[in-house]
Amino acid sequence: MQMETKAEARVGVNPYVKVFEAQKSRSQMLRSESLADRKYKLKKIERWLLENTDSVVEALYKDFKKPETEVFLSEIQPVTAEIRHALRNLHKWARPKRVPAPLTMLGTVSHIHLEPKGTCLIIAPWNFPFMLTVLPLVEAIAAGNTAILKPSELTPNTAQLIEDMVGELFAEDEVKVVQGEVEASRQLLTLPFDHIFFTGSPAVGKIVMEAASKNLTSVTLELGGKSPVIVDKTANVADAAEKIAWSKFINCGQTCVAPDHLYVHESIENKFTEELKRALKKRFYENGKVSEIDYGRIVNDRHFKRLSLLMEDMVDNGGEILHGGSVEAEKRLIEPTLVTKLPTTSKLMQEEIFGPILPIIPFSSLDEVIDKILQMPKPLALYHYSRSRSNSKRIIEELPAGGICINDSVVHFTHYNLPFGGVNNSGIGKSHGYYGFLAFSNQKPVLKQRIGFTTVKAFYPPYNQLIKKLTRLVAKYL
Ligand code: NAD
Repeated sequence: MQMETKAEARVGVNPYVKVFEAQKSRSQMLRSESLADRKYKLKKIERWLLENTDSVVEALYKDFKKPETEVFLSEIQPVTAEIRHALRNLHKWARPKRVPAPLTMLGTVSHIHLEPKGTCLIIAPWNFPFMLTVLPLVEAIAAGNTAILKPSELTPNTAQLIEDMVGELFAEDEVKVVQGEVEASRQLLTLPFDHIFFTGSPAVGKIVMEAASKNLTSVTLELGGKSPVIVDKTANVADAAEKIAWSKFINCGQTCVAPDHLYVHESIENKFTEELKRALKKRFYENGKVSEIDYGRIVNDRHFKRLSLLMEDMVDNGGEILHGGSVEAEKRLIEPTLVTKLPTTSKLMQEEIFGPILPIIPFSSLDEVIDKILQMPKPLALYHYSRSRSNSKRIIEELPAGGICINDSVVHFTHYNLPFGGVNNSGIGKSHGYYGFLAFSNQKPVLKQRIGFTTVKAFYPPYNQLIKKLTRLVAKYL
């Protein structure tokens, strides 16, 4: 484990320069590697993962008691699917793409070449600590890069497992894991990487972007925020309740694309909340108690305290708990909780909740909800439950969002043919599948001209009357 001491930080010695320099020279060599070489590396990760699923399950259980099935669904499968998708399509993605020549470029042949960006930094959060570190690694390798990975310090068992995996599969000058607290991240961010892929909070996203600007490093920022759900009066209430119960409360609500708060039409509010309670009991309870095996825990005491205080603040200010509300500090357990009658000043509506508390807000007209959402930062995800195509059309057209699901939530994350990412406050850039490959590639245009010929020669000076006329015609028609 490479952790920087405070003394080193004070005197300004960056302990990661050496490995960074080694990766820089290696990345130059990787440019001439074949696609077969890249595929071989991806297959190595796939094989390791399939042979070590028990270790992944164990690490995530130690970190925050993530249920085994959730580990397979949300930490392992998205990575193996991403690898297989890349293996099937890499030859297409990496092939130079020919583009047609406009009339002014007559005689030229042009292609877009996708070259590796070079040496990349991947910084990951704790909530899906394996998947959100290894999935971007897969994309970086598919695109021919070297990478330094900085997993989250809040999930140390998973971070160690990733370090072990990388140590087994790669030389340090190709892929290296750096563990450590925020200071390690800060030190890494001073280095002139060719690309930084950061997943985490908008607040830290700003720090990352500022650091990247010092070296003019490109960034992909996969951030979070408050993702709203709208259940309108035409929705199939039972279907919506089942899907929302699952998508909000898996991973104990600690999911970047989890429904954050929910607007429900006042005419179906009671029916919907009853269905939601029923769905919660069916999925996450056993004999009237929260399931020990099918429901996770809050990652650490700080987040447990933060969420408990959010609930207390809500109740103190006149909010009402519709379901749940119980907490057990020693287990870091917070029951799936539904709240309503939120005061306008409630902290629950001011920050990303990132936990198993779902505020339910009744509304009377879609206009009112659209206005409310427009006043908030653009969300990472937006969910609409409805049978009305015209209502969904309005939501899609009028509301900006990183991604939208109609009649489902969260599942778009694993659809690798869709670009995944936020917009402004919820993120910059896209990833997954081809879009992830693009994030780690430079799209380099190459134009080939004929020797002794160029259309532009017609406009070389001295600028006589004919050229002057020609330029006007070109400006008007071409
Ligand atoms: P975080 O921003 O606190 O930390 C993420 C990473 O940044 C960690 O590795 C951490 O060590 C590092 N970091 C923290 N503070 C730093 C600083 N001051 N300087 C440099 N590096 C620093 O996020 P988190 O708490 O680990 O994760 C939760 C957040 O991530 C939520 O906002 C969630 O919505 C978001 N998220 C987004 C996605 C997505 O794909 N868009 C996925 C998961 C989580």
